[in-house]
Amino acid sequence: MIISEKIRKIADNAEREMRDLFADIDGIAEKNTERVLDAFREEQISESHFTPSTGYGYGDRGRDAIDAVAARIFRAEAGFMRSSVISGTHALTVGLFALLRPGDTLLSVTGKPYDTLEEVIGTEKTADNGSLLDFGIHYEQIPMAEDGIDVAAVKERVARSGGEIKVVFIQRSKGYLSRPTLTVRQIRETAYEVRKAAAEHGVPAPFVVVDNCYGEFTETSEPCFDPGVGGEAGVDLVIGSLIKNPGGGMADTGGYLIGSRRAAELAGYRLCCPGVGLDAGASLGQNRNILKGLFYAPHTVAQAMKTAHLAAYVFSALGFPVDPGPFDRRSDIIQTVRLGTPEGLVGFCRGIQSASPIDSHVAPEPWDMPGYSDPVVMAAGAFVNGSSIELSADGPMREPYTAFLQGGLTYESGKLGILRAAQCVLDNKETK
Ligand SMILES: *Cc1c(COP(=O)(O)O)cnc(C)c1O
Repeated sequence: MIISEKIRKIADNAEREMRDLFADIDGIAEKNTERVLDAFREEQISESHFTPSTGYGYGDRGRDAIDAVAARIFRAEAGFMRSSVISGTHALTVGLFALLRPGDTLLSVTGKPYDTLEEVIGTEKTADNGSLLDFGIHYEQIPMAEDGIDVAAVKERVARSGGEIKVVFIQRSKGYLSRPTLTVRQIRETAYEVRKAAAEHGVPAPFVVVDNCYGEFTETSEPCFDPGVGGEAGVDLVIGSLIKNPGGGMADTGGYLIGSRRAAELAGYRLCCPGVGLDAGASLGQNRNILKGLFYAPHTVAQAMKTAHLAAYVFSALGFPVDPGPFDRRSDIIQTVRLGTPEGLVGFCRGIQSASPIDSHVAPEPWDMPGYSDPVVMAAGAFVNGSSIELSADGPMREPYTAFLQGGLTYESGKLGILRAAQCVLDNKETK
């Protein structure tokens, strides 16, 4: 690979200065691996759980064991992790429709949710497409404060509720917004305060639901019910995708919804049908990959986190604004780099693509992606279509030309992707 001595030198410095930080990340991965292995042992995972099922999937022991393992790892009462969930957005849709009824209000307390949820919530333009709005479910949002959730405003709104607020919705990761990512602790505190405010004002407690995408395994616990760490402060449902962190780069597809017994039961009825719930569903040979993915996930997430730290270091050394900063602690795997020019952003994505295992010979071009107002350029050289636990980057072609970077199945390959991105950005600048 063509990578200049100057860039390789910056990476050497980064690794020297980040030794302690990388050791801390390894420590988190080890604790999480222990949690995963404990859950496997407690559920007595064995080769027979890999046996595929067909049709209704009745008696699929592996499917049921995965649900139980996942709930244990997340320290929750119940839940499911299945290949029949096609994406994060699908998982979130299942969760929201499971808990909300006509006349209820969905209250987002982290400002505007992830882009793809806009049509799920519904807009005036698309009010007849089966969105929440189409079913008479109202939506409100509370903007975030500087340093996290505006808990005072949330409590005030819950206190005024006549019981209509059925779901309080929290997005853990900043996603594609410029705001801080929430820590597990901040999420727990909010859940606790919401329940307290509801109890004090005699309002039924809303379900607290977390979009957990990109956050899994970046800390040593998830924001669920956990008797060990103040069970009452756990959330009712955490939701995410298996082609991100918890799939460990091994799951071919899937998602999860995990939390309290009641919320998980309702989510199961929505995923399948009332009455059947989680007792059916063919696993079609995916059980092995999902279990192997959970086994790898703590390690893989650590690889992605180190890759993100390295990217922040290298690009900030080259003079580009980055967020989070190279030494900032993280609660998700997303890194942004502000390239400042169209050539910079395209060069960045081309560099990432050129060091990917798949389609490394193609050069990404900006394109008009459905649902986006500006053309988008993306690098995605992954084994699994759309997987973003694998090294990937994208960004809208508008000021200030920010690249969103995430993933990296191995630190070594992640590092090479970052160094190639730096090389291509500098090349583009020089030839301009
Ligand atoms: C990726 C993501 C989603 C949606 O997941 P898809 O699998 O792309 O549908 C939702 N919320 C957040 C914060 C995400 O990062």
